[in-house]
Amino acid sequence: MNQNWRSVVVRHLLLLLAACGLLGLISGEYAWSLVLGLGAYLAWHIKQLLRLYIWLRDRKPDEAPPEGYGLWGEVFDNIYHLQRRDQRVRGRLQAVIDRVQDSTAALRDAVIMLDSDGNLEWWNRAAETLLGLKTPQDSGQPITNLVRHPRFKEYFEQGNYQEALELPSPVNDHQRLQLQITQYGNADHLMLVRDVTRIHQLEQMRKDFVANVSHELRTPLTVIAGYLETLLDNVEDVNPRWVRALQQMQQQGARMQNLLNDLLLLAKLEATDYPSDNQPVPVDLLLLSIKNDAQALSATRNHRISLEADASVRLKGSEAELRSAFSNLVFNAVKYTPDEGEIRIRWWHDDTGAHFSVSDSGIGIEAKHLPRLTERFYRVDSSRASHTGGTGLGLAIVKHVLLRHRARLGITSVPGKGSTFTCHFPPQQVSMRG
Ligand code: ADP
Repeated sequence: MNQNWRSVVVRHLLLLLAACGLLGLISGEYAWSLVLGLGAYLAWHIKQLLRLYIWLRDRKPDEAPPEGYGLWGEVFDNIYHLQRRDQRVRGRLQAVIDRVQDSTAALRDAVIMLDSDGNLEWWNRAAETLLGLKTPQDSGQPITNLVRHPRFKEYFEQGNYQEALELPSPVNDHQRLQLQITQYGNADHLMLVRDVTRIHQLEQMRKDFVANVSHELRTPLTVIAGYLETLLDNVEDVNPRWVRALQQMQQQGARMQNLLNDLLLLAKLEATDYPSDNQPVPVDLLLLSIKNDAQALSATRNHRISLEADASVRLKGSEAELRSAFSNLVFNAVKYTPDEGEIRIRWWHDDTGAHFSVSDSGIGIEAKHLPRLTERFYRVDSSRASHTGGTGLGLAIVKHVLLRHRARLGITSVPGKGSTFTCHFPPQQVSMRG
């Protein structure tokens, strides 16, 4: 209440008291005159209060308040102005919301808001075309009921959304979608879905091209390698000047064959999501045979190779793929460990799943190379690789095989001391022998 109104009210009260006094003087009943005067004053206030109440209850939007008198008029006007201001702010906010909704509706990418349990809260129009969501029936439905691909369920439940997920669209098999989830606020989820069919097709073309070229090169290379072998078998008929050249050609030919085999294996690994084969693999026996091969590879270099494997732990997956991944790691240890070095192969199980590791006392790898080691053709040192005859694809194959078995690769290494490569398999891939 501002100062003016305070003095007006005081003046009104004084006037009322004066009127009551006058009435008392005329009638001689001072007390009754005061009661009458204050009663009338109270009745007037109650009447104003009732008018305010009725206006607030029944008013239509924008309806002006009833004409009020004195302080009540001021109260009516102030309430009216507050409401008008509130309406204007609400209108502005609504306009902002409408614009955001219009722009997200116009997006070609799908935007989907999910609550903390993964139930649908809001989505734009593109979500209807890309994922087949239906408005309004699907509101409140769990997203995993509507996008039923098993990889999506796994991705959603595992809660690690660092990397995007690529899937065929649930409404059109020829369409490829990329899904990315971000968590915000109270563990709510924001899901963005992009149509990456075109990029996927280009990627597929690249893969097909590499696979086809590798396949086509195999036959001529086999012929060349065959002739070289025949020539070297009859080395006495060959001019001695050419013997060394022929031997080098045979060596490099073998390297090319290895390269083609690795490229074809990688192409095969990339072609499908998970191995079709999901039988429990007796890893201990597999490792025993790999250890024998490693011993043969080491031959006169006399590495001390040890194996500790828990025979009760089996792994669900493809034996052929696991053999190629594990043997790549073990053979690398042989290749990159000096003669008489120590190589330790282990296979064990704990609460976090099953683990395979190969430790060597070899030359080690500098920390800066570790993040890129599984890239195709990545070499720490190219002279080292040509010396060992490696293809540069070994660890890329390991990474792909592990991905297909839901596993991850951990690498620790100290230059000059040795390296440890560990494959961690989650419990769902493990099968214990009863
Ligand atoms: P490569 O066929 O050349 O061995 P890989 O993909 O198997 O290719 O390995 C990539 C690079 O990682 C190798 O060139 C090598 O420098 C390094 N590397 C792999 N394993 C080891 C190891 N056990 N010790 C030291 N360096 C290693």
